[in-house]
Amino acid sequence: ASAVHQIQSGQVIVDLCSVAKELVENSIDSGATAVDVRFKNQGLDSIEVQDNGSGISPQNYESIALKHYTSKLATYDDLSTLQTFGFRGEALSSLCALSHFSIVTCTQQEAPRATKLEFESSGKLKSTSVVSGQKGTTVVVDDLFRNLPVRRRELERNIKREWGKVISLLNQYACIQTGVKFTVSQQPTKGKRMVLFSTKGNTTTRDNIINVFGVKTMTALIALDLKLELQPTGGPFVKGKARKDHTATEIRVRGHVSRPAQGDGRQTPDRQMFYVNGRPCGLPQFAKVFNEVYRSYNASQSPFIFADIQLDTHLYDVNVSPDKRTILLHDQGQMLDNLRESLIELFETQDI
Ligand code: ADP
Ligand code: MG
Repeated sequence: ASAVHQIQSGQVIVDLCSVAKELVENSIDSGATAVDVRFKNQGLDSIEVQDNGSGISPQNYESIALKHYTSKLATYDDLSTLQTFGFRGEALSSLCALSHFSIVTCTQQEAPRATKLEFESSGKLKSTSVVSGQKGTTVVVDDLFRNLPVRRRELERNIKREWGKVISLLNQYACIQTGVKFTVSQQPTKGKRMVLFSTKGNTTTRDNIINVFGVKTMTALIALDLKLELQPTGGPFVKGKARKDHTATEIRVRGHVSRPAQGDGRQTPDRQMFYVNGRPCGLPQFAKVFNEVYRSYNASQSPFIFADIQLDTHLYDVNVSPDKRTILLHDQGQMLDNLRESLIELFETQDI
């Protein structure tokens, strides 16, 4: 790969989490109902993501890993109503530059004849060969950062923390995806492969949380379904499409949160998972409000939070960072004020 390609790739794929995130999002985008994530040596040796989605059509083999190739975005306008996770076409191209990368893929029409694709580090297709397989795609990333020795050493040195982060991230995807059966497993360098967690697919977020965190966690939670009313205070993000109506917008916050019962001995994992319209993201300001309100009832614990903020796509912008984990919300201040009030109301009506 050219030096420039390598540097830019290192900005898209910064760590283990970005690999897992990009591959899992591609699988979800492909319409998969089952996603299997397999680590070897906590991802240091390999990360493999297998799905039963659409597969990749032979006419796209050549372009799939080229920089900025994406099959997901038709026009720039589509960005505001984006339904898929991907749209930049940078993940596969970056992975070619940063690892030993290969794909096995098969569409409905071709099954059981799958094709193994290998690429040059530039993303150019190097070879194809026929293997047996079912509809879907398996992406294999071996020896991440093999050609960036400093980054590689950094990863090895921080592997404990990185591993914790990557599992939390996969928890976050598995819990929200009610239509996808997730399996996450790890094989140590010496030893047997072990399943770390799995969900059942075709289910509810409640069942997903039980499968990921255990039934005990679930019994300590209360359902969250807040309706926040947002008064119009200015234009939405999309320029030239100013909202004409001046009616209030409703935002819903749905999910599950720890019951703030004091001293009942039930320990819930202090996991805090936020989403915007089902898209996992970091929402530190929202987390802060949840934590503050919760701690005013129970100062000794942090709450478990699973909260999906459901709102009109014109009220936010996901196109602000390459990993799309940072989301800009329109009029966040008003949302947070409303959230605080609604949460207090919810906790007040609970038996605590
Ligand atoms: P993006 O997701 O932004 O489109 P990527 O580099 O992640 O870019 O992927 C490039 C393209 O490869 C996608 O647009 C899609 O057409 C195809 N692709 C990647 N992963 C899969 C998969 N698991 N199943 C089907 N197609 C895939
Ligand atoms: Mg992608």
